[in-house]
Amino acid sequence: MKKRIAITLAAAFFAAAALVYLYFTGEGEGAGIPCVFHQITGFYCSGCGSSRALRSVLHLDFYRALRYNAIFTIGLPLLAAYFGALVFSYIRFGKDRISEKIPMKLIWIFIAAALLYGVLRNIPAFSFLAPTVI
Ligand SMILES: [Zn+2]
Repeated sequence: MKKRIAITLAAAFFAAAALVYLYFTGEGEGAGIPCVFHQITGFYCSGCGSSRALRSVLHLDFYRALRYNAIFTIGLPLLAAYFGALVFSYIRFGKDRISEKIPMKLIWIFIAAALLYGVLRNIPAFSFLAPTVI
């Protein structure tokens, strides 16, 4: 139990350090993770703008976060709840008892939504989904 708590605290420390770094790094200072797909193809993937969206959420600028990556911003509370439950399960039981309770149908719906989002944000009629803020 002590080992699991120590590992969890270490992971939480590194996650918090990354969030603090992202919070204090300004727009366009290179703190974001460059997208290889975008660099090669010039198209936006489903994840493009996620680090900028996370930075905006940290600054409580939710409009800007939605403009950078709407699906990431909307999914962030679900992701946080999932990881919170995962950490609790790891500390309490020593293993992941959460992932097996998530129905595969839900996972496929999320994957389909992410793929659709990735396609739509590259179509001019849906350019408002591209990770830009005017
Ligand atoms: Zn991308």
